[in-house]
Amino acid sequence: MTGGKVLGLRAATLLVVLIVAATALAVRLAPGEDPVTVFWPTAGFSVMLLAGLRPGLRSWVPATVVVAAAVALGQELAGRGGSVASAVAVSQAVDALVAALVLRADPRDLRTPRDLRLTTVEDFLRLLLASTVAAVVAGGVASAWISALAADAPWSGLEVFRAVATAYAAATLVLVPLVLARRFHRSAGSSEELALQVVALLGALAYVFAPGQDLPVAFAPLAVLVWGALRFDTLTIAGEVAVVAVVAAATTREGWGPIGNARAEGTISELTATTLTQVLLVSTVVVALPLVLTAQQRRYLLRRLSSDEQRFRRSFAQSAVGQVLLRREGEALVISDINAAAVDLLGLAREQLVATRIDQHLRGRALTAAIAGAVAGRGGGHRIQADVAARTARVDVALSKVSGPGEPDLFSAQLLDATAEYDARRRLEQAEKLTSTTLDTTACIVLVTDLDGRIVRVNAATTEITGYAASELVGRPVWKTTLAPSDAADLEALFLWPNRSGTPVVRENDVVVRDGSRRRIVWTSNMVRDELGLPAYAVMTGIDVTTERAAAGLVTHLMQASITTALVGVDAAGLITVFNSGAQRLLDFEASEQIGRPFTGLFDPVQLLERTGTDDLDVAFRKLTTELREDGELPHRDWTWIDRAGRQHAVSMSLSVADPLGGTGGGTLLCVARDVTEQRRSQELLVAALEKERTAVERLRVLDDAKSDFVSTVSHELRTPVTSILGYTEMLLDGSMGEPDPDQRPLLETIRRNGERLIDLCNDLLTLSGLDSGSVQWKAEEVDLGRLLRDVAGTIAPLLKGRDLHFDVETPAAPVVVAGDGAQLERVLDNLLSNAVKFTEDGGLVRAEVSSDGESAIIKVRDTGIGIPLEEQDRLFQRFYRSSTAQRQAIQGTGLGLSIVQSIVASHGGTVRVRSAHQEGSSFTVTIPLARS
Ligand code: ADP
Repeated sequence: MTGGKVLGLRAATLLVVLIVAATALAVRLAPGEDPVTVFWPTAGFSVMLLAGLRPGLRSWVPATVVVAAAVALGQELAGRGGSVASAVAVSQAVDALVAALVLRADPRDLRTPRDLRLTTVEDFLRLLLASTVAAVVAGGVASAWISALAADAPWSGLEVFRAVATAYAAATLVLVPLVLARRFHRSAGSSEELALQVVALLGALAYVFAPGQDLPVAFAPLAVLVWGALRFDTLTIAGEVAVVAVVAAATTREGWGPIGNARAEGTISELTATTLTQVLLVSTVVVALPLVLTAQQRRYLLRRLSSDEQRFRRSFAQSAVGQVLLRREGEALVISDINAAAVDLLGLAREQLVATRIDQHLRGRALTAAIAGAVAGRGGGHRIQADVAARTARVDVALSKVSGPGEPDLFSAQLLDATAEYDARRRLEQAEKLTSTTLDTTACIVLVTDLDGRIVRVNAATTEITGYAASELVGRPVWKTTLAPSDAADLEALFLWPNRSGTPVVRENDVVVRDGSRRRIVWTSNMVRDELGLPAYAVMTGIDVTTERAAAGLVTHLMQASITTALVGVDAAGLITVFNSGAQRLLDFEASEQIGRPFTGLFDPVQLLERTGTDDLDVAFRKLTTELREDGELPHRDWTWIDRAGRQHAVSMSLSVADPLGGTGGGTLLCVARDVTEQRRSQELLVAALEKERTAVERLRVLDDAKSDFVSTVSHELRTPVTSILGYTEMLLDGSMGEPDPDQRPLLETIRRNGERLIDLCNDLLTLSGLDSGSVQWKAEEVDLGRLLRDVAGTIAPLLKGRDLHFDVETPAAPVVVAGDGAQLERVLDNLLSNAVKFTEDGGLVRAEVSSDGESAIIKVRDTGIGIPLEEQDRLFQRFYRSSTAQRQAIQGTGLGLSIVQSIVASHGGTVRVRSAHQEGSSFTVTIPLARS
């Protein structure tokens, strides 16, 4: 009848039959004329019926009618009729309906009926409420009904109400629990105890309800019921309560027990007796049932709790995972409990662990942080790794809070051994580190490739030797790099045919490194095999042997030298002991032919005689050795040796003491000689050529001198007659010999002009030859160049006549004094100024200035004339040189002026420089040191 279950038709019919029967029986057994009997179980059955149906008016209304009819029928059968019978029928039906309503209807949700059950005190309180409300309503209905229909009834309305209400309530409270109570919660007490309790209850009932018992001890059975309620289940107690009810009702009817006795003695009325009995029953139920429900629920909860705990304990203790329960103490976590697995992991005894801080046994920064986080209530769980303090181990720790809010902080830590994994990882790291270190400390190229020949790793030395960074090599097939041997197919074969014998494949070749240079590398290639013996990697190790090979070249070179250099060992007696291949080649003798023969026999006898003064070979040898210096060496010297064919060979020879202790008189000597015949020959040729050149120059110089002499002689000889020609021409022109014809004048002018030019030429030539021969007598006087320039500007004034030239002279106020020959310096200025005027067209500008920079006097002559082409400027100071422009424009001149200028300036310790360009004017700068004051 619990849950959503509803009574079936059979059960409902049975209940109706029960209602009829119980009503009839109760009325039959009723002690007197009471409207109700001492016990009215039928009210309980009718509540069972209505409450057990599907809730709703559709089932309750007909059921209420059925109940009323059944109660009426029952009374009829027992011979009771009239207003009392109808009042009882109606009120009982109302009682059942109201009780069912209160029990099943949920005021918060009328659509869903409440479950019918009696497992908690709340359930009992609802039953109590339902029975009370129903009893009050039904009592009222009964009381009103009787007052209305039987105004002459012997009972007051209140009496009726009391009796009916208590009877209905008692019946409901005693009987309904019998069907609602369930046994599934086992009793605390044993069956023996139950038997004892039942006996005690029966004893108490027998004592209380014994015939003639007038002591008011109706409470006694309650004590025994309380015992039962605390120890046994609801159904048992409900049954016992029912027994009490039946016993109380039966005995009271018989006039036994305190209530029956009082009624029999007339102390209380029938109705009061009935009411008292019902009150006793209600009290019994109200005491016993809540108690049994409470006790039972508590037992149930306890049992569940302990089974939970047991389950937890079992899993905690037996877990293969290390489990630690931790409680918080301040900022630390202290071990409350620890299972065997965790004890093993932490490597200490249980007693050493419990009540100590967890961070004494586990170490690590992550753990400290996790504990701090857990204590501060941060995050959910913390998963970290920590080191075990008591032994070398590492554990995974999962730390999480297990207590709820408001409870003392409790944490659980799960520990899992991570040592093996950690060790494995560390070993791997170490192995990798070792490999790397080995690779990087190896001073040769190491290329690790996969089976496709693709480079997967290179070492530091590779970069050092080849210049390629690792990133430039890794990932490329080795034969696509410049480090590959020239024959790629050859290398490829190395990978395709992994060496079967197990010995590494070795080869040597040239590779091209990053900067383009070549290195000689000896490669050793081997396969790294996996655990199944299959090739996994190829390791190519390359040793740079460039230097060694170069050294090997040196040896070859030495070997070669030993062929081209003659090494002759000589003993103390002057006899040959060693005659190497170089000596054999040089002189075309076999070693065997020369060994034991005198060393001096190799020399040209004529030269030997010349240099040693003797033709005796022994004496000559001794003479040679006496010339050995202190350091035991005869200095390098060229000697002539004679070969087998009698040919002479110039040799550059040294003789030195090779073994100072060997033998007597100076020890063993070593002669090193190199054939220098060729060198000497070319040297001689060179010397001869130089000699030839020198004599040619010498001859030229003599010729030049002769030429100079000739020129000056001719000039000298020419000057006298030309001067006289000029003198006579002057006379003819000035009319001393009679006025010339006007026609003759131009002829005479021409003669004079050309004569003057000839005189100028002669003067120039004479000046030059004088300068060259050093025959000029230089004066050493103080010359003020400023004044000199002003003078010269005056003397060249006639040249400006008829010309449109801007002529400008600038001299400083202070004298610019140099030491020298005034007349010669005047020539310099005259030459430069007349050149400037001569080579500047009309409209141009000529400017001359003298200045001083504190050390030197500077004469600058500038013009805006025809200029001198750049390429001709270095020849400007040569004699007779005239620029192409001057020649083209037929400007007269000898080409001697500048040459004279340079000679004079040089004699004064100065320099002449020219700056000019074609058609852009010229600038001549003369610098002469100032006279020291
Ligand atoms: P000459 O003036 O008698 O020809 P110089 O030795 O004085 O001989 O000059 C050599 C040449 O240098 C001249 O023929 C001329 O071509 C060139 N020369 C000298 N001075 C000037 C100048 N001021 N401007 C242009 N050309 C010059």
